[in-house]
Amino acid sequence: MQMELRKSFQFEAAHRLPLLPKKHKCHRLHGHSFQVEIVVAGECDPKLGWLMDYADISAAFKPLWEKLDHRYLNEIPGLENPTSENIAVWIWRRLKPRLPQLTEVVVAETCTARCVYRGQ
Ligand SMILES: [Zn+2]
Repeated sequence: MQMELRKSFQFEAAHRLPLLPKKHKCHRLHGHSFQVEIVVAGECDPKLGWLMDYADISAAFKPLWEKLDHRYLNEIPGLENPTSENIAVWIWRRLKPRLPQLTEVVVAETCTARCVYRGQ
């Protein structure tokens, strides 16, 4: 039985998008309450009745969350241009080795705008 689990996290951070034109509002320093959704999928253990412990997802993401929360994202190596797309890839590359069942990383800057990366 194939299952998918989704676990949500939030971090607060400042960023600016330096490659956009200076007139663009995102070129200026600003902040977001970023929402991240970590998605794993795989075979449900028939005995336990679950795919994995949500706590294991949290434990795998925690070191990355600590690097992101209450930070100026542009200062983080690999996030010099911290678009949602680049943040999703940055998380994927660091999380996939710790969480092989990872299938999707979702990063939302606002309630109405989100980016999905599936490792392609
Ligand atoms: Zn922004």
